[in-house]
Amino acid sequence: MLKVYQTDKIRNIGVFAHGGAGKTSLTESMLFAAGAVTRLGKVDEGTTTTDFQPEEIKRKITINATLAPCEWKNHKINIIDTPGYSDFIGEVKATIRAVDAALIVLCAVSGVEVQTEVGWELASNAGIPKVAIINKMDRENANFYRVLDNMKSTFSENVVPIFLPIGAEASFSGIVDLVRMKALSFDATGKVTESDIPADLQDSTGTYREAMVEAAAEADDSLLEKYLEGEELTQDEVLLGLKKALHAGTFVPVLCGSALKMIGVASLLDLIVDNLPSPAELPAVAGSNLTAEPLAALIFKTLADPYVGKLTFFRVFSGIMKSDSYIYNANKEKEEKIGSILIVRGKTQDTVTEVHAGDIGALAKLQESSTGDTICRKDKPSQLEGISFPEPTLALAIAPKSKGDEDKLGSALSRILEEDPTLKVEKNVETKETLLYGMGEMHVDITIEKLQRKFGVEVGTADPKVPYRETIRTSVQVEGKHKKQTGGHGQFGHVWLTVEPLEGKDFEFEEKVFGGAVPRQYFPAVEKGVREAMADGVLAGYPATNIKVTLYDGSYHTVDSSEMAFKIAAAMAFKKGVEKAKPVLLEPIMNVEITVPEQFMGDIIGDLNGKRGRILGMEPQGRLQIIRAQVPLSEMFRYAIDLKSITQGRGSYRMVFNQYEEVPQRIAEDIVAKKAASSNQG
Ligand code: GDP
Repeated sequence: MLKVYQTDKIRNIGVFAHGGAGKTSLTESMLFAAGAVTRLGKVDEGTTTTDFQPEEIKRKITINATLAPCEWKNHKINIIDTPGYSDFIGEVKATIRAVDAALIVLCAVSGVEVQTEVGWELASNAGIPKVAIINKMDRENANFYRVLDNMKSTFSENVVPIFLPIGAEASFSGIVDLVRMKALSFDATGKVTESDIPADLQDSTGTYREAMVEAAAEADDSLLEKYLEGEELTQDEVLLGLKKALHAGTFVPVLCGSALKMIGVASLLDLIVDNLPSPAELPAVAGSNLTAEPLAALIFKTLADPYVGKLTFFRVFSGIMKSDSYIYNANKEKEEKIGSILIVRGKTQDTVTEVHAGDIGALAKLQESSTGDTICRKDKPSQLEGISFPEPTLALAIAPKSKGDEDKLGSALSRILEEDPTLKVEKNVETKETLLYGMGEMHVDITIEKLQRKFGVEVGTADPKVPYRETIRTSVQVEGKHKKQTGGHGQFGHVWLTVEPLEGKDFEFEEKVFGGAVPRQYFPAVEKGVREAMADGVLAGYPATNIKVTLYDGSYHTVDSSEMAFKIAAAMAFKKGVEKAKPVLLEPIMNVEITVPEQFMGDIIGDLNGKRGRILGMEPQGRLQIIRAQVPLSEMFRYAIDLKSITQGRGSYRMVFNQYEEVPQRIAEDIVAKKAASSNQG
């Protein structure tokens, strides 16, 4: 049974960065420094606490937002390590809702990268304080000041160092703490030794200390007045100002360190506990009242596990979650009983009797709850704002590799959709395919791997089929006659049809028969024959559309005519009619809206032209441009991948079906030939 922490003794921090900057390593180092793990796990050896899933170990990247609590100076720090790739942005968005501060990790060599900006922006939009750490100071070409300049020119916030590096690359040996004005060095377990600031750093230390004091003073009117009058602020005043500025988000402190060498890690933990807000110091989230009951907790993550079942992670915003009690899901309007509350660290789990406002816990085997739902008490229901996830845009057709696995795939998909709100599954009625939508290639690949590993279903993938259609361009009159004389009872059906183009409607059937040439009782059979022939298409087997058929003449036989015979005659006439009426292939055209930073406009438009796109317009939106275009669906299946490679992941797009249009002849010929070849193969 673990300790219960009061709200003011809790800190929740999300770790965000571009992939490879060192989030997972730094998280591991914090856990190690705090004694939450007994040895320092390594990403390269697949032994870290937070990257424990097989898909993560194999790729050496974070895919899941993973919770890892530790204790530092009697405070519980809930650290959430997040993925640094745009495919998994859903995990980042969910994490932002569960934490009260963002730790942004930068690599001392590569500086600001795409996902650094994304994480930064999400944290800014959420209004939570940001702390930046320039990691990997021990690496060759590490340069704190270059990355600092890089940050200053990228971000509009006041970016202010509070640690300075002592040495760099192989000689990186410690930090200068500008708040306490001490030089700090660290041993292999992260333990700190304090000494005086080296003489060669005195000058730069003075300059940066001044900038930091100014940032602190600016957060408080009386401090600012004192500062502007040239008075020296006391150490306590500086600390107070820093805390205020940090909470208000008026400045972003910049730290430095090395996760691998444990340098700066203990100081980072100190900063989190001493300066970052506890949940009690934050404005109450809408729908909750932090200081008192009733209970309100947000489910921010669901993990599907074939063995222990479902794990539901929640963050309490008000009240206390107690084990062995009843909870009420406000979204589903269902009550359910819970057993133990789990405190999860990576793959390990422990139990706790209760979880207070501000803290994070997990529940196993909840029936009614999904990510984004609010958990509360039935007699005092409340509802927190849900989590908004991006729409997935990359679609693949999926099918089980072995025939008997359809049901297994169905239930595996519903489990996996539960844990990943950025996936979507859709059954296309026209092409009869199951389409899996994901955020990108890696996301879809990993999902396929998970289906295999977690649920034992092997899945094959293909590009989705395009739901082409067929129609005609002129009006014709055709005859269809079905006549068979076999021994006794024969078959006789005979029709004349007008087959003509029809605007704005799939199909219309009319009869204009004079003098009973075709008896009324056979009209429905004629219509049915035409409809069935339409479904199969004539040109390449795609459904025909926008056609009007009029039955205007024919003949019958008193004994041999039947509904079946008229149905066959009508189908024959219709097929012949379509062949003569200049049939064409139609393709779905999508309305596409692409949002990218200005500098990529030219490349985006060039690429759309190559995809047979029509640009409809452009419109600036801040630093971004929105491009509207119409593009054939057949060109857009892999657009998520193309857009990522053109913009390095800085673009996004949406598309919806607009209308069907004729496929250009050369391309149509290709499609018809391919279809013929594939149906000849069986
Ligand atoms: P993440 O993708 O942001 O979680 O980054 P990882 O923690 O997976 O680290 C990516 C790579 O950088 C791994 O090979 C780490 O061993 C390495 N790395 C992380 N932190 C440091 C550091 O402080 N110094 C050095 N030299 N390498 C580091």
